[in-house]
Amino acid sequence: MDSAPMPTATRARTKVTAIPGDGIGPEVMRATQQVLAAAGAEVEWEEALAGAEAFRRGIAAGAPQETLDSIARTGVVLKGPLETPVGYGEKSANVALRKTFEMYGNVRPVRELPGIRTPFSGRGVDFVVVRENVEDVYAGIEHMQTPGVAQCLKLITEVGCERITRLAAAVAQAEGRRKVTVATKANIMKLTEGMLKRIGEQVLAEYPGLQHEHMIVDNCAHQMVIRPEQFDVTVMTNMNGDILSDLAAGLVGGLGVAPSANLGDEAAMFEAVHGSAPQIAGKGVANPTALLLSALMMLRHIGDFATARRIEHALYVTLEEGKDLTGDIAREGEGVPTAVYVERIIANLGRESGAVPEREYRPIALKRWPQITWYRAASTRELVGVDVFVESERDPRAISITLQAAAEGSAFDLTMIGSRGAQVWPDIGGHSFLVDHFRARFMFKEPPKGNGIAEITDLLQRIGRQHNWMHIEKLQRFDGADAFSKA
Ligand code: NAP
Repeated sequence: MDSAPMPTATRARTKVTAIPGDGIGPEVMRATQQVLAAAGAEVEWEEALAGAEAFRRGIAAGAPQETLDSIARTGVVLKGPLETPVGYGEKSANVALRKTFEMYGNVRPVRELPGIRTPFSGRGVDFVVVRENVEDVYAGIEHMQTPGVAQCLKLITEVGCERITRLAAAVAQAEGRRKVTVATKANIMKLTEGMLKRIGEQVLAEYPGLQHEHMIVDNCAHQMVIRPEQFDVTVMTNMNGDILSDLAAGLVGGLGVAPSANLGDEAAMFEAVHGSAPQIAGKGVANPTALLLSALMMLRHIGDFATARRIEHALYVTLEEGKDLTGDIAREGEGVPTAVYVERIIANLGRESGAVPEREYRPIALKRWPQITWYRAASTRELVGVDVFVESERDPRAISITLQAAAEGSAFDLTMIGSRGAQVWPDIGGHSFLVDHFRARFMFKEPPKGNGIAEITDLLQRIGRQHNWMHIEKLQRFDGADAFSKA
């Protein structure tokens, strides 16, 4: 057994911002730092504040400027869980940190651990979920359109789809994996989810060494439970990835042992998936495994593959032997305090576990995106109509009569009224439950001569005399293709 640090004379110390966080955060952070120090990781910590204490000090984003400065300086963060306290502002400090540093890629390894018994034990589950981290409905752009109808914008960009797919490919290459599964709901949301399918397939075609496939995301959830061994790397938009990465964590032991990385061009932040577990905070019984596994991802990110491997083997030996485990994963009895578990891992440094999959890790080769405003031109663009969203208590036939009257003499014809995506006028014999929120589609009788704004303004004024309209969308064609969904 060898628990002495490896020779490190040639390695420079890498500065890392350590955010202990809330609840059990400081305990699992201390435990992780102890293991890294014992293994000889050449890391110099800059401790920084974020979370509940920052909110208490009135910092609305949950992280003071000094913390942001530290992250900007080091570019690498190891972070404990942060509470989102109710009553100090509605923002999550986690989301704020990810967005401030445009950490667009969330990487969640899902790997069976020895000694962690689950219904999937022995199946060799070993894949990675790559989740887009800053777009989608998590942009948080929401409006109440009527007192009883809410809207959330799902924003997906081509550049966002390209960079998350390239990250998935880079993760596959860095870990010697062979296949990337793009999982989307493109069958229903053809423009947004369909964009990840389209761009993902285009981008992955550039990597001949990688197989790729597309899977509808609901089937992907099903397949993860039925046959999780088939997955290697999966890539998804933000909300799908949020849900499926937690499902995937459940296959291999749950959030208590699930690590993650948030990657961007300027900064990378490594954190456990679990929260601050306030019920057990301060009791010295929290399991630090998830943060320790996140720290291994961090060590690989900064190029210290040898120390990461050394700690990984010690952890696996500890879990395999099953002595001195914390209560949440103990095979018998109450489990031991965090400190005893940490001592056991440290004592096992230098031992080799046969359970660690042999994998040649290489640095993740991230494409750097230039700091310019991204703009995608179209060779042709036409304005063909407008969708006007109106609030009304009347029935669709009555609404159609008033809207047709309003459009009389305007540049438009009313062609359709929809309710929550279903056509309700002209009547096609459906039985949609009606709410007070309608989408009226008006098409230009003839292509507008100018930019069409005067015609749209005129139409809105006419409609506004009888109806409360709350929102419009231009109907456009880019490069000859409709840029809007059909009724
Ligand atoms: P949680 O903190 O993950 O805790 C849920 C339960 O999981 C705990 O009560 C505990 O179960 C168990 N648990 C979690 N981590 C553990 C560990 N390391 N060792 C042993 N047991 C562990 O979820 P939550 O209660 O929903 O969230 C609490 C706070 O954390 C909230 O303010 C939330 O906003 C925040 N949060 C932050 C992050 C983040 O910073 N990334 C992520 C999620 C949640 P027992 O009670 O059975 O012991």
